[in-house]
Amino acid sequence: MDTILIGSQASSTLSSDGCGPAGCTACSDRVGVSQGCAAIPGFLNAPLQAPSRLQSVLRREAFSDADIVYLLGLTDPADCEALRRASYDLTTRLLGDKVHYRGIIEFSNICRLNWRYCGIRKSNRSVPRYVLSKQQIVESALWAAENNYGSICLQSGERRDEKFIRFVEECIREIRRKSVSETLPHGLSITLSLGEQDLSTYRRWREAAGEHGGVRYLMRMETSNPDLFARLHPARDRMEKSYQSRLRALDDIRAAGMQVGTGGMIGLPDQTLADLCADIRFYARYDIDMLGMGPYITSLGADMVDEGMMERGPLMQLSLNMLAVARLALRDVNIAASTALQTLFEDGRERGLSYGCNIIMPNISPREVRKNYQLYDNKPCIEEERTDCRGCLEARIGSIGRRVGWNEWGCSPHYQTRTAATHS
Ligand code: SAM
Repeated sequence: MDTILIGSQASSTLSSDGCGPAGCTACSDRVGVSQGCAAIPGFLNAPLQAPSRLQSVLRREAFSDADIVYLLGLTDPADCEALRRASYDLTTRLLGDKVHYRGIIEFSNICRLNWRYCGIRKSNRSVPRYVLSKQQIVESALWAAENNYGSICLQSGERRDEKFIRFVEECIREIRRKSVSETLPHGLSITLSLGEQDLSTYRRWREAAGEHGGVRYLMRMETSNPDLFARLHPARDRMEKSYQSRLRALDDIRAAGMQVGTGGMIGLPDQTLADLCADIRFYARYDIDMLGMGPYITSLGADMVDEGMMERGPLMQLSLNMLAVARLALRDVNIAASTALQTLFEDGRERGLSYGCNIIMPNISPREVRKNYQLYDNKPCIEEERTDCRGCLEARIGSIGRRVGWNEWGCSPHYQTRTAATHS
């Protein structure tokens, strides 16, 4: 495979001209069920002109590595628009026109880990640390329910102590009990984004939600490249786990019966298009239900500022290409338009929705703590009230021809299919 650099050292090297050094291997190593090459047109309906490479790749339902690298590297506006259209059409065909909200509550920035890219890493002494009370968390969740969000996400820095585990357990139980209403007969569905835990912890949290399920877990792999992973996550103490432990955690989340979400950062220093292609292969192999991917953005509080980041424009296009290709390859999974997209461009999340996303995560944390949950610089919506976000987002979603799935859990169709297959 090729080694086209996409990180800071090579922000202008994305090519729009097709295969990387490995050349086109259109029929090899395909994602999903192989459909063979684009059919050779029959004599009677032969087109006057041979389809372009882009047209024939976009007609496929299964892609070679070379196809994926080619699509990820598109930069010509007309080509990018063709990719966007293909992904948008597949999204609305398979998942409908609804966008589902996950109101995100960033309930604590206390983190025991020291991952190099992250603004709330343990050794960043300039951030005042906070934990919301159970009452504040439940109140935020109930605000979401009253405002017709069907679903919330609880996110925090990483802790694995019993006090924390029990606290989360109690929050889940209380949110589920108190959010039941006529419009939400089983209460809010809950996504947890609390990092690597033991199987027993995942089970406790799953059980706290009760018999109706609706519990999801989002834990990004960050990158599927073990060497890059090791550089981003140097393991210096017993808390800081490894590539292998992260894989095991993903297995444990599945074993605990939750919907499994992962994803990664796009445009990391030294990352290549081949790495991003491998990420998509990884998501397919792990048969994941939900994807949360976003651009890598430097943070002054992190440990990677000197390594720089990609320029805003190319990084945005690369991120959008990645979302679109993930949609084309993985098809029926839920894909979130990350807040980091909005950091690059004000309309970043809407662009994400038009490139194949179907989930959006409005920040519903109390305003006073938002400035202390800056994973990267210039994180948006720090000063806004959650009520501001609600109205403005709905209008933005309408402006791109989609509507909000109010009062719905918006479970991943992929999860529904895989569990129906297991249970039948
Ligand atoms: N502790 C949980 C975990 O590790 O899964 C959740 C919190 S963690 C801060 C949430 C995500 O933020 C990470 O998975 C990472 O991808 C993203 N993130 C952190 N720093 C970032 C950066 N500088 N640029 C873009 N995304 C970043």
